[in-house]
Amino acid sequence: MTNLESRPREHVCVAGPAVPVELIPPRDVPLGGPRAMTVRRTLPSRQRSFIGAFCFADHYGPDDIAETGGMDVAPHPHTGLQTVTWLFEGEVLHLDALGSVQAIRPGQLNLMTAGRGICHSEEGTLVRFPAQRRLHGVQLWTALPDATRNGERAFEHVADVPAFDVDGARVQVFMGTLGGVTSPARADTPLVAAQLDLPAGATVRLAVDPAFEHGVLLDTGSLTVAGTALEPAWLAYLAPGCAEVVLAAGAEPVRAVLIGGTPFEEQIVMWWNFIGRTHDEVAEARAHWQAAIAGDPDGVARFGHVTGYEGPPLPAPELPNVQLRPR
Ligand code: MN
Repeated sequence: MTNLESRPREHVCVAGPAVPVELIPPRDVPLGGPRAMTVRRTLPSRQRSFIGAFCFADHYGPDDIAETGGMDVAPHPHTGLQTVTWLFEGEVLHLDALGSVQAIRPGQLNLMTAGRGICHSEEGTLVRFPAQRRLHGVQLWTALPDATRNGERAFEHVADVPAFDVDGARVQVFMGTLGGVTSPARADTPLVAAQLDLPAGATVRLAVDPAFEHGVLLDTGSLTVAGTALEPAWLAYLAPGCAEVVLAAGAEPVRAVLIGGTPFEEQIVMWWNFIGRTHDEVAEARAHWQAAIAGDPDGVARFGHVTGYEGPPLPAPELPNVQLRPR
């Protein structure tokens, strides 16, 4: 998992065989719970585990929450990663072990850094938001590098992310730097995440960091990325080396999310909500979470406790009988 090229060529990523665009299809995953909302997952996929440090991409909605029940994810743990919550419509309440009580709306970022351990709940339901009708957005995870993955837990809410316009498109930069603007959100490896809104028929030349690999997740409309047509909910992957990505909208306005970063070169073991480096680390995190929900002080010390959620925490599933392997 090492890019052996020390100086990859830079080029404008328009079209043609010089710039292969890899298309990653979504798969439907129920979020769990009795009235489970279904998400469309493109990372990790069979083809690809990472885009930069992004190792997980869930896309959901637009859902009528009176029908689906919305999002109701009971307290659950994380290790070794950040959760990146970004909405297109609706509202979600985040509670965590730091005592954070934070509602999030479109145009805002919730970023939770697990470090060695945290737990949180996420609710986008009629109980929390009686006026809410639709829920629509993404949740991404970044893998933390070895230097910070066992650090302190943290949470930040960015109420107003920086934005810029290019070729008629609006770009909201919620992580990293793009187009000369920088999100205040913490990033432990070089990476970027942004919402792209293109008017119908627009062709946009977006300058990007050529050291980054990139992904474009299409939400609405029809879009070609570097000459390759993308279906809604699919993720287009571009290898490092693009200094500019050409995006062309079809007959309707387009909304998409761009992610990217320098290729993540550490091997990880990702299982359930944990990222570690070995099977044993993940098994230990699981044991600590099970201890935490039983009230054991060592477990609670690692993951903390969510106050204010109605209902029990989510127990961890059984570990598989085989050794978890790094990806
Ligand atoms: Mn979570």
